Amino acid sequence: MQTTDQKIALITGANKGIGRATAERLAGLGMTVLMGARDPGHGEEAAAAVRAGGGDAHAVTLDVTDAATVREAARWTGERFGRLDVLINNAAITGSGRVSPVDAVDQIPSGVDLDMVRAVFETNVFGVIAVTNAMLPLLRRSPAPRIVNLSSGGGSLALNSDPDGPLTGLPPSAAYSPSKTALNALTVQYANELRKDGILVNAAAPGYVATDINDHQGFLTPAQGAEVVVRLATLDADGPTAGFFSVDGPVPW
Ligand code: NAP
Repeated sequence: MQTTDQKIALITGANKGIGRATAERLAGLGMTVLMGARDPGHGEEAAAAVRAGGGDAHAVTLDVTDAATVREAARWTGERFGRLDVLINNAAITGSGRVSPVDAVDQIPSGVDLDMVRAVFETNVFGVIAVTNAMLPLLRRSPAPRIVNLSSGGGSLALNSDPDGPLTGLPPSAAYSPSKTALNALTVQYANELRKDGILVNAAAPGYVATDINDHQGFLTPAQGAEVVVRLATLDADGPTAGFFSVDGPVPW
């Protein structure tokens, strides 16, 4: 086992988009980054790029819906590093493919395909529970463990229920948005359980970022989207827990 004072961070879905930008930033801060990817080739390509930039990066095959890969990722991380300091639950799908939220009309509740809702929750919600619980024994060995869940302003009930709010105009969603609302709820429940152990758990709203998930319709870069994630991953011991933050501050639940 490699023993190191260098912090160890695992990011799910780190082969592209915000997850990859987060890995690049955390590596730049001197952390060892474990870049989760369901496709090993894509993971290795991303990790090699971070290494080429001087970072310490390792690809980890990890499909958050595949219990065997989750188990193996935890086993390998434990064997290789003995602990985990930061877990970023970033991997997610829209269920509608690569579309801007405006185009996701197949998520309108009255006509939604229940199998699509199940698939979205399997990745965006149940996958987070699976990965978090697999990694918790390793996080408990860290002196300052942090968990960041990649949520979305689209998961905010307050914003969704405001007829004059910023989400007005988006088609109602029975899949992606509720999955992020459920993730917010899980964030609070995990934070409440783990508060006494010094494990800070928060949800991040990265803003509207140009990535594959929205067919690059977003107006922020992945690096800009990663900013709030990095802040929550590097909180001091007196930092918040059970919170929901964008780069501009708290987001209403
Ligand atoms: P992205 O570029 O599409 O990246 C999504 C990542 O998740 C990819 O690496 C993808 O892997 C991975 N993934 C999907 N299903 C997976 C699974 N079952 N197991 C492991 N990895 C899986 O999208 P992004 O914009 O960077 O999204 C990152 C996070 O930010 C998501 O949680 C998203 O909901 C959130 N978010 C994004 C925006 C935005 O405007 N972009 C706004 C709010 C929130 P593959 O390459 O194999 O598909």
